[in-house]
Amino acid sequence: MTKKRKSHQAWSWVFMIVFIVLSIIDFRFGILGIICMTTPMILALRGSGKAHCSFYCPRGSLLGKFLKPISFHNNLPKWAKSNKVKNMLLFAMVSMLTIGMFHANREGFNLMKTGFTLFRFMTASLLVGIMMGIVFKPRTWCQVCPMGHGTAIIDKGLKGRKITKEKNLSQ
Ligand code: SF4
Repeated sequence: MTKKRKSHQAWSWVFMIVFIVLSIIDFRFGILGIICMTTPMILALRGSGKAHCSFYCPRGSLLGKFLKPISFHNNLPKWAKSNKVKNMLLFAMVSMLTIGMFHANREGFNLMKTGFTLFRFMTASLLVGIMMGIVFKPRTWCQVCPMGHGTAIIDKGLKGRKITKEKNLSQ
């Protein structure tokens, strides 16, 4: 029997607040953003699918928890959640982060600048998520989120490989 995973989304928003406060106090804490960015991918690569989105994500938790009373609860237009838009957003975010990291560390690793780059990246995506959550439904960001999309791509790829492997074995 598989054990049912417990969701921590009712309170995991606390991590996002702690991250923002610590990073404002000292930009070096921004380095913690790496945890938020890599955990979804690591879980997906380990075969847990979108477990991060469903059970842990502090950003998703924060959007869902606080935007309900102020959200207009509109539906995001269909075109905006197409794969084309999600791929473009993923590409734009990865490019922005890569360029930011390059500039931060071009004279050798710099913890302060790296932390600031990650903090800026995380808060920028959170602000976009908040704006989208107000205009549309609270967790609308999750419909286009590059991390969620990247995780879904990994998950799909792994499942596809598993099916091909099973087919080959049964032949
Ligand atoms: S889609 Fe993005 S913001 Fe939403 S739960 Fe997943 S990782 Fe978090």
